[in-house]
Amino acid sequence: MGVGPREGDNRYSKTFFPLERLKMRYCSGETMDLLQKLEILADAAKYDASCASSGAARKDSRGSPGVGSTGGAGICHSYAPDGRCISLLKVLMTNACLYDCHYCINRRSSNVQRARFTPEEVVRLTLDFYKRNYIEGLFLSSGIVRSADHTMEMVIEVGRKLREEHHFRGYIHLKTIPEASPELIERAGRYADRISINIELPTQQGLTKLAPEKNLERTQKAMGHIRGKIEERHAEQRKPNAPKPPPFATGQSTQMLVGADDSTDAVILRQADSLYSDYRLRRVYYSGFSPIPEPSSLLPIRPPPLVREHRLYQADWLLRFYGFEVDEIASDSAPNLDLQLDPKLAWALGHRGLFPADVNKAPREMLLRVPGLGVRNVDRILGARRHTRLRLADLVRLRVPMKKVLPFIIAGDHSPTRLGLDDEALRARFLPPLKQVELDFGVPTQNGTMDIESVRSGEL
Ligand code: SF4
Repeated sequence: MGVGPREGDNRYSKTFFPLERLKMRYCSGETMDLLQKLEILADAAKYDASCASSGAARKDSRGSPGVGSTGGAGICHSYAPDGRCISLLKVLMTNACLYDCHYCINRRSSNVQRARFTPEEVVRLTLDFYKRNYIEGLFLSSGIVRSADHTMEMVIEVGRKLREEHHFRGYIHLKTIPEASPELIERAGRYADRISINIELPTQQGLTKLAPEKNLERTQKAMGHIRGKIEERHAEQRKPNAPKPPPFATGQSTQMLVGADDSTDAVILRQADSLYSDYRLRRVYYSGFSPIPEPSSLLPIRPPPLVREHRLYQADWLLRFYGFEVDEIASDSAPNLDLQLDPKLAWALGHRGLFPADVNKAPREMLLRVPGLGVRNVDRILGARRHTRLRLADLVRLRVPMKKVLPFIIAGDHSPTRLGLDDEALRARFLPPLKQVELDFGVPTQNGTMDIESVRSGEL
């Protein structure tokens, strides 16, 4: 359930918990063995992007037996710019696998050191780390050993022990295996806040080539089953005076690899869009493929530019929160996103006839399409213009990024004709500097600067 390391990608050099400090504690012979497994299995798990604790119902252990309250006590969730949650114990049960997905470092034919936890060991580590405040929860995935059902049973056993024996009320995200029986996937959902199944590649053609044991239809069927269970539980909860239904995960997510096959951004985004609408996924995570040791000849030699992953996240945001359709962002005639400009800006430059938009009159849907205006800013503008006619100074006070917005809006004291909306040099004005830059998260940009703030806040 993972992909290979990206050489030189500093994001992956960060550990998700203070391993060095743990060495001080786990130094006896027996526990050192556990630590070695942890080093291998945490390392093997860190390439999976599909973990996030957003959207889970908060639990509170105050006044009841158990540990792991996520309500009240100042617990917050941190995310890397690409959406990875950084406060979970993120491990595999095992990095041994029966499957041979070409892009995966844990594949059957990979020459890596293997390790395997018992469910008791994962439970012990989770509780121990949680009580030391290193983590807020667990993200558990696994290579497939013996059979999909056997592997799922091991994963479920961890969830069961944590919830039923130790009354753990922290966050649990379990990765499920589409080939496992629906009853087992259902049982996993009972203990998890979030469950996910990695779709890996957007087309069956890509899977047949690079992950021959995987099947898109089977994965979608399993997602449909999970969606059904989530909705069933919601319906039960809404019934007046009905007893509380048994717990079930509040959402599901998935991960798609980018650049391992020749799928275009349009194909990737269409698949993501249909996953959101057909299976009500909370998130689709995009993970840039990275070359792995002893790679298969079917894989590309070079990874895609990191900025492609970033642009896909931005486009994903436009689909979910800004009212864009896939074909407006990436179509058959222009199947890949512009790597130099964010997709909303690229769209606006291609549709200049629709601008400028009057911030005092334009409907919400139009304001959402103005480059630089995020959902939060649009709502602030709509609120503020009820009381006053907005001028540029008001937008500055609302912290609107003026340089980006100015050519596309009309305000009380501003008309962009002076700024030259029709000017062919307008695109050039927004192009990033050619220099390669290291940003605070250590994400090197190969095609200019990444707008880290826009990804964090979702403001585009
Ligand atoms: S199923 Fe495929 S992607 Fe998952 S661990 Fe095994 S080889 Fe890797």
